[in-house]
Amino acid sequence: MPSAEVTNGVNGAKQSSLKDSEEYIVIVGGSLGGLFAGVALKSHGYNTTILERTPTFLLENQGAGIVAGGDTIDFFDKYDRTGKPVAVPSYKRLYLDKKGDVIHEEVNRQNMTSWDLAYYLLRANYDRVDSAYLQGGQLPEQRPTDGKTNYRYGCTVTDIIDQGDKVLIKFTHQDDSGTTISNSLTTRLLIAADGPSSTIRSFLEPQIKRTYAGYVVIRGTVPETEASEASLSVFRERFCFFHAPGTQNLTYTIAGENGTTAPGTRLLNFVWYANFPAESPELERLLTDKDGRRRHITIPPGKIAWEAWEMLKSKAEEMLPPQMAEMAQKTQTPFVQCITDIIAPKNLYMDDKVVLVGDALAGFRPHTVASTSQAAFDVMSLVKWLDGDIERGEFVERVMVYARDVQAKGVRIGNRSQFEELDIQEYIEDRNMMSIPHKDIVFPAWTREGLDEI
Ligand SMILES: Cc1cc2nc3c(=O)[nH]c(=O)nc-3n(C[C@H](O)[C@H](O)[C@H](O)COP(=O)(O)OP(=O)(O)OC[C@H]3O[C@@H](n4cnc5c(N)ncnc54)[C@H](O)[C@@H]3O)c2cc1C
Repeated sequence: MPSAEVTNGVNGAKQSSLKDSEEYIVIVGGSLGGLFAGVALKSHGYNTTILERTPTFLLENQGAGIVAGGDTIDFFDKYDRTGKPVAVPSYKRLYLDKKGDVIHEEVNRQNMTSWDLAYYLLRANYDRVDSAYLQGGQLPEQRPTDGKTNYRYGCTVTDIIDQGDKVLIKFTHQDDSGTTISNSLTTRLLIAADGPSSTIRSFLEPQIKRTYAGYVVIRGTVPETEASEASLSVFRERFCFFHAPGTQNLTYTIAGENGTTAPGTRLLNFVWYANFPAESPELERLLTDKDGRRRHITIPPGKIAWEAWEMLKSKAEEMLPPQMAEMAQKTQTPFVQCITDIIAPKNLYMDDKVVLVGDALAGFRPHTVASTSQAAFDVMSLVKWLDGDIERGEFVERVMVYARDVQAKGVRIGNRSQFEELDIQEYIEDRNMMSIPHKDIVFPAWTREGLDEI
């Protein structure tokens, strides 16, 4: 129950007043982080508006697998009302050598989901978007205690201004004729869930930039029906790894089209890291899309240049075990992302009227398999604070020690894997360290430094 004594710092107002008022909390970013916030706040009775810059009602399927960490699963256990399973389990970890032989095997349950399944389940819970992803589940009914929701797409936030008790949010959107219109909203609480290149963070911390880590990740999926027996035997319901100098690959089973998890309908998802030095001609070639446009960080599905993809496929033949090279040959939807580092020094700004969550707070290296979990955890902690279940200091500490610790671990294990040549056992230990349940992590003392000043 909300405590009447605790203030949330929003101009000294009582936390409970945000819930009981007709006011709307504004969430910037309508991907997984923003939807986690929207779904949890709705369920706790807060009204929310999501501003998402993508010009279409639904975000495009990212066609990618996500390792669902403990906080992601906890979030769905707590807030999902569709009843649809979000994850495909994997029961074993396998490590391959270059020939494709299994050199290490361990029992380790892990939950694999896909970006689109998580997205559609969250949209069903937030604003009752129906989709084939709900097959086997149901469209949740609105409860009288739910907060009101408003998912506004095509809205790009361009500025925020501190007005004392409120934040003025300026944004643009297009009308039906395609004309760009300037608009604004005020709110007592803005949740920035606008990703690793966060616009909101760039207003608050303009000196902080995403830095390139010297390698990229190439991702894609292949239907399990199209894979050879040799590949299925190591990838089906397995989490399969390969390490070699300058490269690593992991491949696993995820839900198929519309979130189907029945055997035979699923996808094999590959995640392949490869070194491309900054400013090298090869990196330039890779990041120049098929229309000749030099992309900054991501080449989305369908946009890779034919020549760049041929280069990657021949690298796959050269560098990867045959089963993993097969995935690169067979995928129809490859995409590429530069691996970057970013972390904000704090999560609360403008007298606590602005809170950063998920990738906007800290963009982890993907080896941590913790980015989605971070967003889920930040949001669950935020709701506890708003509801008066924890104090402000505890909210800040929980979120910041986790962000700092995982971000630093990601840099360390990523650099060890890409730029050092280690015994396989060391890579296994690095990876197993990232599987320690959140509640059992012992956060080092440095992650608490300076938190009192936030
Ligand atoms: C292909 C892929 C695979 C991944 N695999 C994993 C994995 O295995 N494990 C894991 O834990 N995580 C994984 N992640 C990361 C995970 O999806 C994100 O960490 C998670 O979705 C939380 O991100 P976010 O919502 O904070 O940011 P994002 O997903 O980046 O979303 C930010 C949103 O904000 C919007 N936006 C940005 N600027 C503005 C603006 N100015 N105005 C309005 N809207 C704006 C964007 O359009 C976007 O929709 C993966 C991500 C991708 C794309």
